[in-house]
Amino acid sequence: MKTAEHGAMVIIGAGQCGARTAQALRENGWEGEVTLLGNEGIAPYDRPPLSKAVLLGQKSAAQCALYDDAFYRDNRIDLRVDAPVTAIDRVERRVVLGEGRTVSYRRLLIATGAQPRSLPVPGATLAGVHVLRSVPDALSIVDELQPGRRIAVVGAGFIGLEVAASAIARGCEVVVIEVAARALMRAVPEIVAGYLIERHRQMGVEVRFATQVDRILGDSRVSGLKLADGTTLQCDAVIVGIGVTPRTALAEAAGIDVADGIAVDDTLRTNDPYIFAAGDVCSFPHRLFRRRIRLECWKNAEDHARLVARNMLEYGETYSAVPRFWSDQYDMTIQIAGLPAFGATSVVRETGSASKVFFALDGDGVLVGASGVGQTGEIAREVRIAQELIARRARVEPDVLADRSTKLKSLLTAEAL
Ligand SMILES: Cc1cc2nc3c(=O)[nH]c(=O)nc-3n(C[C@H](O)[C@H](O)[C@H](O)COP(=O)(O)OP(=O)(O)OC[C@H]3O[C@@H](n4cnc5c(N)ncnc54)[C@H](O)[C@@H]3O)c2cc1C
Repeated sequence: MKTAEHGAMVIIGAGQCGARTAQALRENGWEGEVTLLGNEGIAPYDRPPLSKAVLLGQKSAAQCALYDDAFYRDNRIDLRVDAPVTAIDRVERRVVLGEGRTVSYRRLLIATGAQPRSLPVPGATLAGVHVLRSVPDALSIVDELQPGRRIAVVGAGFIGLEVAASAIARGCEVVVIEVAARALMRAVPEIVAGYLIERHRQMGVEVRFATQVDRILGDSRVSGLKLADGTTLQCDAVIVGIGVTPRTALAEAAGIDVADGIAVDDTLRTNDPYIFAAGDVCSFPHRLFRRRIRLECWKNAEDHARLVARNMLEYGETYSAVPRFWSDQYDMTIQIAGLPAFGATSVVRETGSASKVFFALDGDGVLVGASGVGQTGEIAREVRIAQELIARRARVEPDVLADRSTKLKSLLTAEAL
């Protein structure tokens, strides 16, 4: 067992959280080695544009890069994009790469993200069936979105709905199939999901709830779907957006605790004091929601990166940021603060002719979430102030939240618990 403090700061996963952590280590004055190990063959990039601007043809994959080459060179970040980590040796404090190569770590961050679930039905491996997580996934889907083609989207979560909106904009016919009785089950209350789905239907998307895909039809390439209710749908391509699974295999094999993601404490440290986990791959206790949560969003990966870098340097700070998420569909922006799905009651505030903010209160009347839907300029301020109220665990009267003439800012004086 090693005792001396030596070796590099090593990060497994050259994704958003990994790259931002490398940057934050430098910003916090770490002068030693930083090794960033990736397995995608390309430098870290932003994933949110993949389902929006990239599918719409407004942005190239190269334009999604988080940094240019000079950044890694100037910051002395040893970025290796073809370096899949195959094992973590906790006794020797080193990670194992292919062909038996190893890298010793002083502190290790696991930021391996999450992988899309595939559809567990016959035909799921036919050509024309796609998931969307990476640049190659997005480029394959771009090829499918030709005008007039019929695209089936499986799953009415954020990725599925963004793909549906992009496909409509490219002149495709789109059908969305969702096993639940409504969209966005894990993310927002029914009223918010209903509002969004209404818009999708207005734009021409056919949405089918409470049914699932029994099999994907086709010989070598997809030609249709057979649904559990007996319906057969013809389609030219299938995009599967049924959620993601945290990539925990390395951690599990190394005996690191896992609980719906790598289980970290509120400093993002695992049960091994030398190993941290952050971003989509970890679950962490959240003070505000009084439970362990796992988030799959850009802002969380950013905030985790900033904090975990400091804690790898032994600052010992705790994480309690209010979750933030956004999505773009058609000309609508969706901005979310907190965890609206944890609400028991919904309150709607009209903030513009086509903009609303939906507030979510828990059983004690504490504000736990806000979902703004509409034009950025008409929702952003309300959602930002709601974020502060959520951070204070403020109790707010529903009629005050609904009343557009009450300035939300005045509620910041509301009694905090
Ligand atoms: C299409 C799409 C659209 C999105 N849109 C939004 C949005 O609008 N708003 C929002 O808030 N969030 C959005 N997100 C979510 C956001 O992008 C993620 O939350 C964020 O990327 C998480 O960052 P991460 O670093 O934890 O994981 P990732 O970005 O997944 O990075 C993990 C990296 O680790 C690598 N890796 C895994 N195993 C190994 C190994 N053994 N060795 C080496 N490397 C490994 C992976 O290949 C990957 O490169 C979107 C995600 C996708 C896919």
